Amino acid sequence: MHITQELVNNSEVPAIFEATFRHDGVLVQVDVLRRSHKKEFELIEVKSSTTVKPYHLLDVSIQQHVLRGAGIRVKSNHVMHVNRDYVFNGDLELAKLFLIEEIQSDRLLTRSAVSGILNDLYTMLSQPEPPNIETGTFCKNPYRCEFFEYCHPAPDEDDVRSLPIPAEKIGMLLHYGLTSISELPTATHLRLYWHFTNRECSKIDAARRACTCGLSVDEKLQSELAAIKYPLCFMDFETVAPAVPRFRGMKPYEPIPIQWSVHRQAHERGMLEHSAFLSPHTDDPRRAFVESLCKAVACARSIVVYGSYENTQLSNLSRLLPEYAATISSIQSRLVNLLSIIRENVYSPAFEGSYSIKRVLPALVPGMSYDDLAVRSGDQVASIWEQLCADDVGTVEKARLRKALLDYCERDTLALANLVDVLGEHADSS
Ligand code: SF4
Repeated sequence: MHITQELVNNSEVPAIFEATFRHDGVLVQVDVLRRSHKKEFELIEVKSSTTVKPYHLLDVSIQQHVLRGAGIRVKSNHVMHVNRDYVFNGDLELAKLFLIEEIQSDRLLTRSAVSGILNDLYTMLSQPEPPNIETGTFCKNPYRCEFFEYCHPAPDEDDVRSLPIPAEKIGMLLHYGLTSISELPTATHLRLYWHFTNRECSKIDAARRACTCGLSVDEKLQSELAAIKYPLCFMDFETVAPAVPRFRGMKPYEPIPIQWSVHRQAHERGMLEHSAFLSPHTDDPRRAFVESLCKAVACARSIVVYGSYENTQLSNLSRLLPEYAATISSIQSRLVNLLSIIRENVYSPAFEGSYSIKRVLPALVPGMSYDDLAVRSGDQVASIWEQLCADDVGTVEKARLRKALLDYCERDTLALANLVDVLGEHADSS
């Protein structure tokens, strides 16, 4: 704060980054404080989003409140964000990549409203115990709360919070004091009087069955698995999506596929044969990605993926490389989405309300998970890949990072192969 004050007083300084102020017990660091006149400033909050969000206005309101309280004259308020329409033409134009939007005062909270919020927060913080409130969508949106795990312990098997239905519907049940799956009204009642959809009701029925036998498998599972034909491939992609586009013609946050893993299986329960691609540098990997992938899955009659992400990336690649459009279209026509099959036909309380592969895998294939890997989530892939491509990283470290990425993607496709085996057994015995 001392340095900030010196810079504020020096009228030669055109802008201050991370200017730090305290007022009313609140400390703020303003991303950019641009001098518009000798003693007057423009407040600029920098966001990585592509639009101004409602919660950005709260950030700006609080910053303005603190700055004014600290004696700074704020002429205008702005949010700088990424321009989603910017197209990289080979030369980075920062003035086009970012947009600076002025926020008029009628969009900001009044000083008394900010004071009211701060008073409520101080009152809450002075209590010896945390407030007793129900969790809700606000726990994850707009940000995942840092106390999320504390407030969301793994629910009991009979707890309605483990149901794979929208959070609003769970909130409705809790609001009316219905906490146990076993005490929920009938499906007809839920449909008629609570406006639950047929799909939500069938999930609740599956959960009721699973509470008594551990796993609920719909009889349709067998016919849906019959769509899987051998020779078979299990396929998974990893992408990075940088805010600053890397290659000509790209927009901010456009995904770049950098890695694939494929396990091939000639016949049911046959040996698995693995192949993989990982771009080792930051040159455009998309052509090499497609060329190698087309060869790897050429022999497959079905290609099992988990979700729709791979299909979307293939469509993007088809537009970028029209000479591969026919081959890519053939790959897309052979895709089988295992996530949809599991979501529609299998329920286990061990999924804890989520059909992410990280939850489904250990529940259906005991002993198999991602816990032993250096990379355990797709969120880590971009930063590890950036490290792998950096010039100042030694060969030993590069080898370690490369192995970590390859192991992670390989586990995804090995997981798919194991899930298909296990589901086949459940379908046979259901
Ligand atoms: S997770 Fe965070 S936002 Fe949600 S109830 Fe707990 S403290 Fe509040």
